[in-house]
Amino acid sequence: MRSFEYARPETEAEALELLSEHGGNTAVLAGGTDLMNLLKRDVIQPARVVDIKSVSSWRGIKPHDGGVMIGANTTLDEINEHAIAADYRSLIDVIDGIRAIQITANGTLAGDLCQLPHCWYFRNGYGLLAMKDGESLVATGDNRYHAILGNSGPAKFVSASRFAPPAIAWNAKVRLVTQTRSVSEGVEAMSVKEEWLPLEYFFLTPKTNSQGVTVLKPGQLITHLWLPAASDTRSATYEVLELNGLDQPQASAACCLGLDGGIVRQAKIVLGHVAPTPWIAHEAAKWLVGQQITSDIAETAGRMALAKATPLSHNDYKVQMAQTAVKRALLKATNQLHETL
Ligand SMILES: Cc1cc2nc3c(=O)[nH]c(=O)nc-3n(C[C@H](O)[C@H](O)[C@H](O)COP(=O)(O)OP(=O)(O)OC[C@H]3O[C@@H](n4cnc5c(N)ncnc54)[C@H](O)[C@@H]3O)c2cc1C
Repeated sequence: MRSFEYARPETEAEALELLSEHGGNTAVLAGGTDLMNLLKRDVIQPARVVDIKSVSSWRGIKPHDGGVMIGANTTLDEINEHAIAADYRSLIDVIDGIRAIQITANGTLAGDLCQLPHCWYFRNGYGLLAMKDGESLVATGDNRYHAILGNSGPAKFVSASRFAPPAIAWNAKVRLVTQTRSVSEGVEAMSVKEEWLPLEYFFLTPKTNSQGVTVLKPGQLITHLWLPAASDTRSATYEVLELNGLDQPQASAACCLGLDGGIVRQAKIVLGHVAPTPWIAHEAAKWLVGQQITSDIAETAGRMALAKATPLSHNDYKVQMAQTAVKRALLKATNQLHETL
């Protein structure tokens, strides 16, 4: 591991100041469950690591603007134990699936949203696009866990976030902040630039190795996630996992449904671990409106969601998994999963 400066600010302003120095060649440390690995393996080489755990205004869950705001430093256990969490079933489904106390005790929601891909070529130093001698290592190599949608460009990894699919299905927004400098009459002043961005626009598919996987610019970070009021929305996430412990899903699907007398009035379906970004299944969700969720309807929605899949040489199997994840998420949200398995 290379040496780096370590800083532990206590306020938002201090944190942004520290992150903006070194030309923005800095890294945010939250729970550290993933960042420490990236540092040890030299996958990232920041000049300074800014540990944000002591910024108290970025911790906790509270009502905000008709919904709920979760601070970036809030751990998965804290979310799980909060009374309000029960209303956001699809987020709790994810926490239930993380059967590793190291991750739930230390890991944070924002850390999950911002974690870098688990593509083995990337983690072994070949860059996000995993190129060697101008060739894609993924296209010709072991691509069994790679993308089956959105993979026509050079990026073939899958988005690593487990919470992004359910949060996007909830139409969540993230608060992004960065420090800005202005000079007026020769006097330099610092201020905080704040932006609330719908989470579905947060993720990017890079076209070059110098681009990232999110819109975050150097020195910028997430401070909060906002979820709209749960009211009577039904939600669920279904993840296809291999292990009963530390694991990443091979495919997942999350949905939010607004029902009226059992008929779907509003639907949003988001797939995870199938594309370089969380993948919104617009057509399948639109088709569900006006229908009653049954096993057959849920299965058809799953097929529609994957209709444009373009699997690589070794990951055809993920298409069926993702279809099934959609079907089971819809059945789970309508309390029918147990009846059909
Ligand atoms: C051995 C190992 C096993 C794992 N197993 C699992 C598993 O079973 N299930 C699972 O879901 N995940 C797993 N993970 C992934 C990871 O631990 C979790 O996703 C966790 O939620 C990350 O949260 P954290 O707070 O620890 O993030 P950190 O490790 O602190 O950060 C992760 C990334 O997000 C960035 N970041 C953190 N906070 C912010 C912020 N507020 N704004 C901008 N960027 C930010 C960091 O700079 C870093 O790039 C595993 C990781 C490792 C190393």
